[in-house]
Amino acid sequence: MSDTATVRPLRAAEVTEWDLTADVVIAGYGIAGACAAIEAARAGADVLVLERTGGWGGAAALSGGYVYLGGGTGLQRALGFEDSPENMEKFLLAALGPGVDTAKIHDYCEGSVEHFDWLVEQGVPFKQEFWGEPGWEPPHDEGLMYSGGENAAPFNTIASPAPRGHLPQMQNKRTGLKGGGFMLMKPLSEVVESLGVRAEYDVRLQRLVVGDDDRVVGVAARRYGKPVLIRARRGVVLATGSFAYNEQMIENYAPRLIGRPGAAIEEHDGIGIRVAQALGADVAHMDATEVAFFGDPQLLARGILVNGRGQRYIAEDTYGGRIGQATLIQQENQAYLIIDEQSLEQGQGTETATPFFRQPPKWAAETVAELESDMGLPAGALQATVEVYNRHAADSADPLFGKKPQWVRPLGTPLAGFDLRGFTAGFTLGGLRTDLDSRVLHVSGEPIAGLYAAGRCTSGICAGGYVSGASLGDGSFYGRRAGIAAAANTAAAAPLMDSAAAPLIDSADQ
Ligand SMILES: Cc1cc2nc3c(=O)[nH]c(=O)nc-3n(C[C@H](O)[C@H](O)[C@H](O)COP(=O)(O)OP(=O)(O)OC[C@H]3O[C@@H](n4cnc5c(N)ncnc54)[C@H](O)[C@@H]3O)c2cc1C
Repeated sequence: MSDTATVRPLRAAEVTEWDLTADVVIAGYGIAGACAAIEAARAGADVLVLERTGGWGGAAALSGGYVYLGGGTGLQRALGFEDSPENMEKFLLAALGPGVDTAKIHDYCEGSVEHFDWLVEQGVPFKQEFWGEPGWEPPHDEGLMYSGGENAAPFNTIASPAPRGHLPQMQNKRTGLKGGGFMLMKPLSEVVESLGVRAEYDVRLQRLVVGDDDRVVGVAARRYGKPVLIRARRGVVLATGSFAYNEQMIENYAPRLIGRPGAAIEEHDGIGIRVAQALGADVAHMDATEVAFFGDPQLLARGILVNGRGQRYIAEDTYGGRIGQATLIQQENQAYLIIDEQSLEQGQGTETATPFFRQPPKWAAETVAELESDMGLPAGALQATVEVYNRHAADSADPLFGKKPQWVRPLGTPLAGFDLRGFTAGFTLGGLRTDLDSRVLHVSGEPIAGLYAAGRCTSGICAGGYVSGASLGDGSFYGRRAGIAAAANTAAAAPLMDSAAAPLIDSADQ
């Protein structure tokens, strides 16, 4: 793990020999790094990717593969769903805020159809099939799903619901073990290779190298314990992932995730953020987190979810990540699912992609009063909740939270209670503040010359809320932008070579 001393930038004047050189140097070979590499190479730059592990992929290759796209993508249209950039923007502004980067969200929605086409052109396969059941992911290789609560309250009254979770087709998929993320990264890495991009593995970025004018001109890394100095003629792209596995940063910025990192890899230690902060980079939304909730959505939709006081707190048919955030952040991670026998049997009889989320209930009782007492809830609390729920459910209505009528039915008896306390984990969404060209912004608001970033080391389209697919979505979208912008930074090369105090002997140029 990095400490403040080691992340301070190294002065180029102190470099006597570069081990490697490229126009554009990218740290991290996950989704953002791969997309940056493709676009930088296509723009004519000589590109080098540095990866800390022994191969490409990162968290992206292990992921479920959701890419959040919309506005009328080819897949949405083929499956009969109407959407527009304006409709998508309305939804994202409501679902990802407060405090979202409105320019980024607008830009992302406007570019979403083109970005989908681009992924398809790179060989990422999307099957023309929709999965409409509640769930984290489709159980098979379906290509499209609701992945952010678009069709649930309160968002279904704010924007016209459209599914935007685009999933690469994966044969023999096993959710959580072997998902669509691999079929996102595999074709992308093949394109990277076909473009002649060099990749160096087991190389770990530690510091940035800056010229006398503070422009970023390279990277100081380590390989097998030995220093490696890499010169970047045009720019450095940081694409090293989140800080979910940096305990100190989690304590400082997102303490609710202490002890519960999820959907991230241990290499996500915040280094990209640290080295840029050491240059004066600004950060945003460091407290924002994705939070997964390990309850089976098929059962949640059919029951009622109550907090430690026996009170409902959310529409149970919404996106699981929204339930996770509400549970962890607003309910002290206390959640119980109450469901009657009939709904339990129905829910368990339906297909789910997350069978491992199905635990046996902890309590079973003949009446609500008995269940409430067995669960140790305050006398009358759960009874009042069920009484109010059932009163309106008789009319298929949920005036408190707006659960859709298809899931609203009075709870009967006998009942089961599931103990879902502490059933959350997540990753961080905050990071470097970047502009629409993925330039890293200094605290003064100006771009830091020669420095670009994308993926979860940046603050992307999410501020507080989350939708599944936002990370692979903004990581790939702004990864491309980073590659394009860094490759275009041709003015950078000459001044460094002229102004370096010591002659820069470049082994790659010899
Ligand atoms: C099981 C699982 C399911 C998920 N499902 C989804 C999903 O469906 N949709 C979605 O949007 N997101 C999902 N995510 C999250 C998503 O995968 C990540 O947020 C996303 O990959 C971040 O992109 P990135 O490019 O920033 O990081 P990564 O894709 O992780 O790439 C970062 C790379 O940088 C490397 N690196 C780190 N430090 C250094 C260093 N010092 N020097 C050099 N290289 C370094 C890492 O080894 C890694 O290869 C999931 C994650 C997991 C683990």
